[in-house]
Amino acid sequence: VTSEEAAWITKETVDGFRENVNPGFLEYRKTVTQGGQFAAVEWSDEGSCFKDVSGKEYIDCLGGFGIYNVGHRHPKVVEAVENQLKRQALHSQDLLDPLRAMLAKILERITPGDLKYSFFTNSGTESVEAALKLVKMYSERTTIISTTRAFHGKSLGSLSGTAKGMFRKPFLPLIPGFRHIPFGDIEMMRKTFETCAMVGEDVAAVLLEPVQGEGGIILPPPNYLREVRELCDEYGALLVFDEVQTGIGRTGRMFASEVYGVTPDILCLAKAFGGGVMPAGAVVANERVFKSFFPNPFMHTTTFGGNPLACAAAIATIDVLLEENLPARADEVGRYFLNGLREAAAGHEDKVMEIRGIGLMIGIEFHRDEVGYEVSKGMFDEGILVAGTLINSKTIRIEPPLTIGMDEVDRVIAMFRKVLAQTKA
Ligand code: PMP
Repeated sequence: VTSEEAAWITKETVDGFRENVNPGFLEYRKTVTQGGQFAAVEWSDEGSCFKDVSGKEYIDCLGGFGIYNVGHRHPKVVEAVENQLKRQALHSQDLLDPLRAMLAKILERITPGDLKYSFFTNSGTESVEAALKLVKMYSERTTIISTTRAFHGKSLGSLSGTAKGMFRKPFLPLIPGFRHIPFGDIEMMRKTFETCAMVGEDVAAVLLEPVQGEGGIILPPPNYLREVRELCDEYGALLVFDEVQTGIGRTGRMFASEVYGVTPDILCLAKAFGGGVMPAGAVVANERVFKSFFPNPFMHTTTFGGNPLACAAAIATIDVLLEENLPARADEVGRYFLNGLREAAAGHEDKVMEIRGIGLMIGIEFHRDEVGYEVSKGMFDEGILVAGTLINSKTIRIEPPLTIGMDEVDRVIAMFRKVLAQTKA
């Protein structure tokens, strides 16, 4: 398209959003993401690059908050879905679908410990929702411990686990029994278990992201997850890991559970599970927990969950991750990336508070929201897409495809260096 046409399409897109999609979207974006700038997306490659309608290229360091672990449109995932589309697309969940069984078998093999049974969903929110219903079917207890800054989705159930007051307030009361305590504070966790037991409100489950994503890439302190597991075992509570963002290779192993050596009773997946090509999610549980859920197979159902297209995409995605050794690559490239960003930030301690991460899940925290905002705006101008957290720009997140090229990583680091130098404290 010509530059006039591109400008017209962009304007129409922006107007369309304002008038017919979501009038608040643009205003919200102005305060959080890319300095309020917009790219009307035209095309994405098989890796980390996309183009807007004017032909400007971007390195996608965030896309979908970490859904493109195998790249935007990995040829094997695309081919698997295309082939499946020619045979069979969506069908009734009542039918036995070989791909669903195969995917569940693969998940049993690749998930840690005794995780065995899968229920398939279409999103992260739905995976958490199903996990919460599993907890409720398993246990008469009603207390569920979640954490401050947690994000688990925005349906009424998953929102009960999500911490942010702004998202919760209009919908109160949510599911009763949730307690939000600071992530990483094992003493507070222990006290909560004790207090709950004393007043006869035993803890049914702890719901955690092993590494908090939307909260701003918050890593668990050493041994924290292991100690949480021990507390759950001691008090007979279930441990639910929401690996919607951390799973599928993002943190340097297939699952963050493996990075930290802790097996949950229930594991939630989505985002990158569908290879960035299909919406797909799963909740995987051990036999003990799962069997309590499905004495009646219709206790929880979804029409599209585990459909053949999503399963074909997920199987191909796992295949690619294993074949290309992408979790290990995330670890290696992640270390290089983190070091590079830290070096680039040296001398800018007045602006940058901390750069942290694990695998290719990296957060850059600034002292002030405005600095993060300016940096993400500057990066956008230089053709690098990053974004803040759900509610501010104080921490910008970097979660590129695990396939990202080293030349692209170097470019992102160089542009970060340049933009940071130009940004006022
Ligand atoms: N859990 C976590 C940890 C997430 O990061 C997200 C999405 N950011 C969700 C759940 C919700 O997933 P979805 O948007 O696919 O419903």
